Amino acid sequence: MSQPNQPVLPQNVTRLAEGESFCFSCHPAIACFTDCCRQLELPLTPYDVLRLKRSCGLSSEEFLDRFVIIEHDGQEAFPRLYLSMVDDGRESCVFVSKQGCTVYADRPGACRAYPLGRAAIRKAPDNTEGAADMDEFFVLLKEQHCQGFAELQSQNISRYSAEQGLDRYNHFNDAVAAILQHDQIRAGKKLSEAQIDQFILALYNLDTFRRLLFAGELPQRLPLTDTATTQQLANDEELLRYGIQWLAKQIFGDHA
Ligand code: SF4
Ligand code: SF4
Repeated sequence: MSQPNQPVLPQNVTRLAEGESFCFSCHPAIACFTDCCRQLELPLTPYDVLRLKRSCGLSSEEFLDRFVIIEHDGQEAFPRLYLSMVDDGRESCVFVSKQGCTVYADRPGACRAYPLGRAAIRKAPDNTEGAADMDEFFVLLKEQHCQGFAELQSQNISRYSAEQGLDRYNHFNDAVAAILQHDQIRAGKKLSEAQIDQFILALYNLDTFRRLLFAGELPQRLPLTDTATTQQLANDEELLRYGIQWLAKQIFGDHA
């Protein structure tokens, strides 16, 4: 029986305790290699797009145009962005090849994390500028086609997260949670069309955001000189941090 306030999980998903071990390994010699890169819905976070567009040598605008599907059904506060799949009869990821992932060093957080899943719930909505104060828990997702669980490599959450380079992804996802899990959103706030455009611009379309910001073509209720120098904002990571603060001002009238 599940505990009160604990979500009921599907049968193939189990909650992991801190330090609990599990057996898993994925490598090119495994029979199912790249099977999981097909027929999937792959949601993209802002940091995923930042890494992928750089890996592809594209501007954020070009990357969004070529590789991203944006969906917004109006029931949810924010649009969702997904990586495109190729129409090859197997709905393969645009970046998969026979040799594996062609953007491996910059693959999305969800690809790194599998078979782990991390839920992060923001505790302190008034936290400013630093990392958000989050409650987190981890689950293990066992899909039938995945043979990685038959390997004898023992893992645990912290070791696997470190091996997969997940800390940086979790850091930015937690920062974006200041927007996604803001108290006003939890209370049912809906965004205007203009605010939805600003959400995509400031979090996902960083190169265009930078150009418009520097050209003075954006409502700039967060003075540049108070938060970061122009030189710092040439760096994509710094710009994303700034974009989160800027967007919080536009949508909620406060800092994230
Ligand atoms: S299905 Fe599992 S073991 Fe096979 S390639 Fe994907 S993650 Fe690795
Ligand atoms: S980005 Fe790479 S790891 Fe992720 S689904 Fe595509 S090919 Fe697979």
